[in-house]
Amino acid sequence: MLIDTHAHLDSCQLRDEISALLERAAAAGVTRIVAIGCDIESSRSCLDIAERFPQVWATVGVHPCYVTEVTQPDWQERLRQLAGHPRCAALGEMGLDYYHDPPDGWSLKDYQARQHEFFSAQLALAAETGKNVVVHQRDRKGLECWRDIVRLVTPWNGKLRAVFHCWILPWAEAAPVVENGHLISFTGIATYPKAPETHESAAAVPDGSFMLETDSPYIAPVPHRSQRNEPAYVRHTAEAIARLRGVSIKHIAAVTGGAADAFFRL
Ligand SMILES: [Zn+2]
Repeated sequence: MLIDTHAHLDSCQLRDEISALLERAAAAGVTRIVAIGCDIESSRSCLDIAERFPQVWATVGVHPCYVTEVTQPDWQERLRQLAGHPRCAALGEMGLDYYHDPPDGWSLKDYQARQHEFFSAQLALAAETGKNVVVHQRDRKGLECWRDIVRLVTPWNGKLRAVFHCWILPWAEAAPVVENGHLISFTGIATYPKAPETHESAAAVPDGSFMLETDSPYIAPVPHRSQRNEPAYVRHTAEAIARLRGVSIKHIAAVTGGAADAFFRL
């Protein structure tokens, strides 16, 4: 039984056919899905989906690419209320994004400062509410974003666990954070032939410290690459990682399912 731990089910590319998506997922052995919120409204939508479908849980948070759009002064209080919902499995998607340009009217410096402010506030809220966190990080090149992520998460070691989603960096970067109880998760990039660092990390990470995800509707795995992604396709990522680790897909399903149960407290 596979779990897709990161799907944007509220996205306009998926939300109108959720019942059909969930049926195809179940047919592919993907029996549970975590719907990932990106701002206050999307978090509320993900909780609505989780209320309607027992196999879906939700996260609530503000994605770094949406920090300039969240203008409610009481956004933290709104998030705190959503975090108290019984179907809320974690806080996020939160983090830092140095890949995309700042929106019109924002300097890079101010944009990144606002991302840091939102990320730090959500880490504190997670510790306060006893939730773990789903973390986004993306660089154009190099490790500047990742270094800042590690710096901001480190004070919370032992108080909360983070999953660094869509892991594509070398294992040497993951090893110290995994040592501190955090997790990494793999998308369809693990199925791409030219992703040596992702493959290296997927082969090296210990059982219990990694999970599987689609990041639907984005980053579809081979053989659906460049099409719209959906939760059923997490099976392709599971198969690729089973091959990289020299184990059965059944084993991968068991250890990633166990890791997700513990992390999200499903
Ligand atoms: Zn995402």
